[in-house]
Amino acid sequence: MTESLTLAQQHLYTFQACRRRFYLRYLARVPWPEAPLGSQQEQAYERGRRFHRWIERQFLGLPPMEPSDNDPQLRQWWEIFQTQAPLLPDGHRFVETSLTVPVGRKGRHHLTGRFDLLIVSDEGDEPAAGLFDWKTGEPRPIERLRRAWQTRVYLYLLAEGGAALAPQKPDAFAPRRLTLTYWYVEEPQQPRVITYDDAAHRRNRIELEAIIAEIDDQLTTGEWPLTDDWTECRHCAYRAYCGRQAAGAGKLDPQEEEEPEPDDLWLEPQWG
Ligand code: SF4
Repeated sequence: MTESLTLAQQHLYTFQACRRRFYLRYLARVPWPEAPLGSQQEQAYERGRRFHRWIERQFLGLPPMEPSDNDPQLRQWWEIFQTQAPLLPDGHRFVETSLTVPVGRKGRHHLTGRFDLLIVSDEGDEPAAGLFDWKTGEPRPIERLRRAWQTRVYLYLLAEGGAALAPQKPDAFAPRRLTLTYWYVEEPQQPRVITYDDAAHRRNRIELEAIIAEIDDQLTTGEWPLTDDWTECRHCAYRAYCGRQAAGAGKLDPQEEEEPEPDDLWLEPQWG
C-alpha cells in the first residue's frame, strides 16, 4: 500500500524544520494551539489575506474593496501598491492560479503551488513567464529568498508544468525564461527579481527529489522524530505537546515567507 501526498512549499519547509511538527500539523492534524502572540499574528495574517484579495480583485477587473474596508494600515498599503507596484510586462495574466505536477519516485506524490500573478509575455524576441508575489511581511534579502522553498517550488512547477497553462507558448517556460519577483510593500522600490536557468533547475530537481525521498522514508518507518534544534521549538505552538517548554517562547513560526497559510493545507493521503 502506498501513500500519495500533495505537497506545497509550506509542507517542505515544515518537514525540514521538524519532522514531528510536519507529522502533528499535517498528518495527525493536531490543532495549532493559540499562543500569547497568536491573536496579534493572526490579525497580521488576516490583513495580509485581505491585501492579497484586493489585488486579486483589481486584476480581475472587480472593485477591490468594500466601502466598509477602512483599516488604515490596509489603506496605506493599497496606496503604495497603486503608486509603486512593479512594472508589469504586457501579456496574458493568470491571477491566483494553481499548478500541480507529479514528483517523487514514479511520480508518486504531487507538488503544488498557487501564484499571486503569472504573466506570460512575448515582449522582445522571446516569450517569457514572470511570476509576481506580493509580500506584506518583513523584507528579506534576495539570497535568502533564492533559497526559500517558495522560490524553489514555484520555479520548478513553472518549468515542469507551466506549458499546460499556456500551451500556445511552451517556450516561455524554459528555465532561462522564468523569473520570480518578490515585491514588498515595506520596500516597494526594491523588488527582488530572481532568475532561473537549466543548471539551477537541475539542482532544484535534485534537492526536491531528495527531500521527498526523506518524506517517503518517514512515511515508511512511521517515525517522526523531534528536532534536535531546540530553537525551532521556541517558534512552535506544539511546545507543551512535545514537552519542550524549556526551549522558551519566541514569536510563533511565521513560516519561511511570512505569509498566511491557506486553510486547506491539510495533507490528504490517498491510498492505492
Ligand atoms: S515543539 Fe519542537 S520538537 Fe515539537 S513539533 Fe515543535 S519544533 Fe518539533
